[in-house]
Amino acid sequence: MTTPISRDRASALFFDGTARGELLLRRCEGCRHLAAPPVTVCPTCASTDLVWQRADGRATLVCWAIRRAADTETVAGIVELREGPWLRARVVGCAPERLAAGLPLRVRFDRPAVTDPAAPAPEAVPVFTPDEQRRTTPDE
Ligand SMILES: [Zn+2]
Repeated sequence: MTTPISRDRASALFFDGTARGELLLRRCEGCRHLAAPPVTVCPTCASTDLVWQRADGRATLVCWAIRRAADTETVAGIVELREGPWLRARVVGCAPERLAAGLPLRVRFDRPAVTDPAAPAPEAVPVFTPDEQRRTTPDE
């Protein structure tokens, strides 16, 4: 059983994005560096002048771990977004034997099922699935 992710002040705009089907990054207005949330300070120039920028959703697999529990298998991955930042996210829709460094992936948004109607609705979370369109053109 996993606990649904819930928002706080720092993540509210990020989850507004995922609800719309958008993956948002933080772009530094000082040096244009892109970073994955939840950074609040630019890791390159220490500026706090960060704005949200939509990522195009393409990524490649960097590394992963397979968690097995009962009859379920979860792939916890680190992906490199096309824009550069790395993100921790689940990899779904991929048989374990297909997992490989550099595997082209595309973002998708998973909204966990509501199990407690009294609790806040679970946030849509970004997960990554193999990008079949790019399987034959990995150099794009
Ligand atoms: Zn910066």
